[in-house]
Amino acid sequence: MSKVSFVIGAMASGKTHFIKHFFAYKDVDVLNIFDYQQKAYKESGFGEMMPIGVQFRCLMKANDMLLNDIIEKLKCGRDVVVEQTFFKAKRRIVYVDAIRESVDAEMEIYVMCPSDERWQKNIRIRNLEEGCGSFKMNTSEIEFPNPIEGFDSIYEVSEDGIKLRLDPLLDEQFLIDARKQITDEKERIEKEDDKSRKRKALLESMKTRPFWHYCEVCGKKEFLTDEDAFNRGWDYPPKMGSFGLLGPRTCGDCKMKDTLYWKIQTSGKLPIVIEGDLNDKDLITWRRIKGEPESLLNEENQ
Ligand SMILES: [Zn+2]
Repeated sequence: MSKVSFVIGAMASGKTHFIKHFFAYKDVDVLNIFDYQQKAYKESGFGEMMPIGVQFRCLMKANDMLLNDIIEKLKCGRDVVVEQTFFKAKRRIVYVDAIRESVDAEMEIYVMCPSDERWQKNIRIRNLEEGCGSFKMNTSEIEFPNPIEGFDSIYEVSEDGIKLRLDPLLDEQFLIDARKQITDEKERIEKEDDKSRKRKALLESMKTRPFWHYCEVCGKKEFLTDEDAFNRGWDYPPKMGSFGLLGPRTCGDCKMKDTLYWKIQTSGKLPIVIEGDLNDKDLITWRRIKGEPESLLNEENQ
């Protein structure tokens, strides 16, 4: 039977070093989550300025890719060593469940538990002193694996050696809760992705579909495409400004200086709209802008 050995622990806890020595003379394939994360980040095309939501999706994708590779290798009869962070039981459970479902393999996990001293030394060696505080937080975040997660054996690795842990089984409810968290998380992400896909498609369609153009100054309204409106002198997104952001919304006859945008920009105060300060007409304009592009799809009844 092939075997997968997970090695988990905080940054600079000695995972790589341990793998290099402990598995040195064994015929194993070593996979590292770090490589998969780098790949996912690169593929996202965001570079340094990655929004937190994108980063989260990259991490999930990296986890999926790594899991697939583990299963493929096990199926081919290879023994696999996996360097992972795996702080949370729910992340481990996803792996254990998926591997059990696809292949008959032995699963063990090694948890790096260096003493504070050793760990500080590792950090110094790696020249990571500045981030010391956050590394400390890293270790305290680790939920120590429990046999109920489905591993065949769990080991603690410290300067004193490798110790087989025989912790009492947690209650079944622990697994139920963890699996529910995973399902909820998946659903939430799918919903978010679906929403942003629809939003993107709607914004794209605004470039070609006709929609209502309302002049905030004279009250004129016309059902036009962006192109036609532009040719008739309208100042309107998507050509001029952006949907949902304060800017002039005027027909070809009216002037920017009569717009809410102008009023706010020249108020001498911070250019922020405070609804309580607006008159009824401006409030209608502002709410319409905030609701764009949806607010422009159907004619307003007045
Ligand atoms: Zn007008």
